[in-house]
Amino acid sequence: MTEPLASLPTTDEEWRARLSPDEFRVLRRAGTEAPWSGEYVDTRTEGVYRCRACGEQLFESGTKFDSHCGWPSFDDAIPGTVKEIEDRSHGMVRTEIRCARCDSHLGHVFRGERMTAKNTRHCVNSLSIRLDPKR
Ligand SMILES: [Zn+2]
Repeated sequence: MTEPLASLPTTDEEWRARLSPDEFRVLRRAGTEAPWSGEYVDTRTEGVYRCRACGEQLFESGTKFDSHCGWPSFDDAIPGTVKEIEDRSHGMVRTEIRCARCDSHLGHVFRGERMTAKNTRHCVNSLSIRLDPKR
């Protein structure tokens, strides 16, 4: 996928038809892939990471950093593309991040860890994004 979807699916059936079972579980059911299992954990390729569900551009490769947490990590998102929601599941208070366009789950955002100058870690499932390499 190199361009955003012109129209978004509206039902689970339509999403299931577009996504693999693993992608559906993560993107549409707020699942989490196993750490170190995703295809983009160590990726250094230049480009832009798009939402795997709708194709929207979410993260620039220049904001990706090595967090040693087992998931792709970005210290910034493309402005306006990622929304934040308080997540009180699993006995923790975390901030879930979703694609602002299609409301699909991406991962969580953590602040104050001092890993980068921006002091922010968007911890994202590889299954939620697709790298569009720079051409
Ligand atoms: Zn999306």
